Amino acid sequence: MAEIRLENIYKVYDKENEAVKAFNLHIKDKEFIVFVGPSGCGKSTTLRMIAGLEDITRGKLFIDDQLMNDVEPKNRDIAMVFQNYALYPHMTVFENMAFGLKLAKVPKQEIERRVNEAAAILGLQPYLKRKPKALSGGQRQRVALGRAIVRKAKVFLMDEPLSNLDAKLRVQMRAEIQKLHQNINTTTIYVTHDQTEAMTMATRIVVMKDGVIQQIGTPEEVYANP
Ligand code: ADP
Ligand code: ADP
Repeated sequence: MAEIRLENIYKVYDKENEAVKAFNLHIKDKEFIVFVGPSGCGKSTTLRMIAGLEDITRGKLFIDDQLMNDVEPKNRDIAMVFQNYALYPHMTVFENMAFGLKLAKVPKQEIERRVNEAAAILGLQPYLKRKPKALSGGQRQRVALGRAIVRKAKVFLMDEPLSNLDAKLRVQMRAEIQKLHQNINTTTIYVTHDQTEAMTMATRIVVMKDGVIQQIGTPEEVYANP
């Protein structure tokens, strides 16, 4: 169960640059929220504040009624997938997926169980012993997703995870991420500038411009009244 509330959030990088302004949003448990808007409108900054990778200048962030502003990233129960995958090149697929769990001192048997479970969901079982360079783009993206799934976090954040893939693979991975969302039952926030991704995946879309929310609604509401 994970509800996220952002109350009047601001991010000021410097006096000239208010990246996010008066951001108010209540995300319900198991929603799939998509942030859309042009480059530089504050999507990543908002995501990074939720993850704790960026300080919140003003306002309050709650997850399940707990104030999170000063909680360290590792204590937030959040898993994040980035655009560039950020896989460790010298580690195998298995080791990449297991790495975060090892750091968290999860017992070895439990690590093996979770990695194998994620690999089964993502069709990665045949590749567990390979290094990232021996994988296709789509397979690498699946490993990045797998590394997030194994954490069993209650919040899933994705920052343009498909933007490095070709068009065909994007369509395929889009469907897989939707299926994944249904299977793992997490509250998800997904950043993209691709309208089709927003339309097909979101329960609600948040349209941002110049650091401000312009519109919040279902895909039908947002794209019926652009
Ligand atoms: P988006 O994800 O929508 O492309 P960002 O959140 O990355 O937008 O950026 C929002 C604004 O904040 C932009 O004007 C960007 O230049 C600025 N910005 C982002 N990161 C930093 C940073 N680390 N330092 C200063 N300004 C930043
Ligand atoms: P894509 O067309 O998606 O970019 P690639 O041409 O990179 O895919 O790879 C096609 C298939 O070959 C994939 O299943 C991938 O796992 C496999 N493959 C690619 N490079 C290697 C390698 N160096 N060693 C073993 N298998 C590889």
